[in-house]
Amino acid sequence: MRILVTGGAGFIGSHLIDRLMEDGHEVICIDNFYTGHKRNILKWLDHPYFELIRHDITEPIRLEADQIYHLACPASPVHYQYNPVKTIKTNVLGTLNMLGLAKRVKARFLLASTSEIYGDPEVHPQSEDYRGNVNPIGPRSCYDEGKRVAETLAFDYHRQNDVEIRVARIFNTYGSRMFEQDGRVVSNFVVQTLQGKPLTVYGDGSQTRSFCYVSDLVEGLMRLMNGEHTGPINLGNPDEYTILELAQAVQKMVNPDAEIIFKPLPQDDPKRRRPDITKAKSLLGWQPTVPLQEGLKMTVEDFRARVASPQGQHLASVSE
Ligand code: NAD
Ligand code: UDP
Ligand code: UDP
Repeated sequence: MRILVTGGAGFIGSHLIDRLMEDGHEVICIDNFYTGHKRNILKWLDHPYFELIRHDITEPIRLEADQIYHLACPASPVHYQYNPVKTIKTNVLGTLNMLGLAKRVKARFLLASTSEIYGDPEVHPQSEDYRGNVNPIGPRSCYDEGKRVAETLAFDYHRQNDVEIRVARIFNTYGSRMFEQDGRVVSNFVVQTLQGKPLTVYGDGSQTRSFCYVSDLVEGLMRLMNGEHTGPINLGNPDEYTILELAQAVQKMVNPDAEIIFKPLPQDDPKRRRPDITKAKSLLGWQPTVPLQEGLKMTVEDFRARVASPQGQHLASVSE
């Protein structure tokens, strides 16, 4: 099949491309390199079945594909809040363009939605029928509401134009290849301990998240795309940890002498988050297989190699 991956030079997108290429598909990657990097897809650049297009999806583009994995959108609060209007354009205009493309070429379209559409949830754990508690005017809303409109667009193209859609609600995912300055909690804690800096816990660290290793997530996305169910379907690891527990786990693994310091909690930071994955289990036969300790170990090894490399050191010094 010819498969288009938007945001394919990013963290999840590049792992997905590895799987698709290894399965023998023809892959087109679209990316504007806002938070993605060519090095994530370096090994495929010369492959005859791989094509990289530097393109911003807020502009229309004409291509042919059988399937579209639509992942293009900054995912870290630091990056999506840097230019919130652009984040809205990417989610609304970008998703509209990719759905227009899917309609024109009759491609199946998978949207990488997010647990953020549940906002600061009043229901725990979150199942797909929960409609969420999102602040429409806060600093996170460019992303949260943007993704909610992206879901609405997908369902309206489905109902109005018969576009075959799949909607994945992805919960916190981590793993190798996360950008050193991504700003999300796992990469921050790992980079901080490796560099001998204190771990920055926001608030008192009692807020919770559930962390899914990237290989598990990619498997879930592929099962959803190739299965019969439109979704939305939650994809995430139901093991829930407080952020302080996560900091202590990284501290213990990398440097038991590392200091943990507390910083102010960002506005609208969700207090609890854990996916109900009953649907993914029953409809896709999917559940995560990599426990946090194991996933963290692989992540630390990947970062250790990069932070110690000349390029890694260069990137680290740029951030200071
Ligand atoms: P990422 O930031 O590493 O990847 C996003 C990619 O999209 C980057 O390569 C970036 O350059 C590209 N991009 C951004 N705006 C673009 C535009 N206008 N045109 C073209 N390319 C653009 O993030 P990720 O963690 O790999 O997330 C991928 C997708 O999964 C995102 O849609 C995100 O919302 C979703 N998601 C991720 C998580 C997570 O925990 N990682 C959780 C929920 C949802
Ligand atoms: N679009 C695109 N590539 C295509 C087909 C459509 O980028 O191959 C864009 C198109 O420019 C438009 C959007 O997708 O902005 C929605 O397209 P659709 O055909 O649904 O709507 P219309 O063009 O009628 O507004
Ligand atoms: N967080 C933290 N220290 C950091 C980065 C994040 O304590 O250096 C917290 C953040 O406040 C949130 C959780 O970790 O409660 C997850 O943050 P992240 O940005 O990874 O993703 P979110 O789930 O909030 O989108």
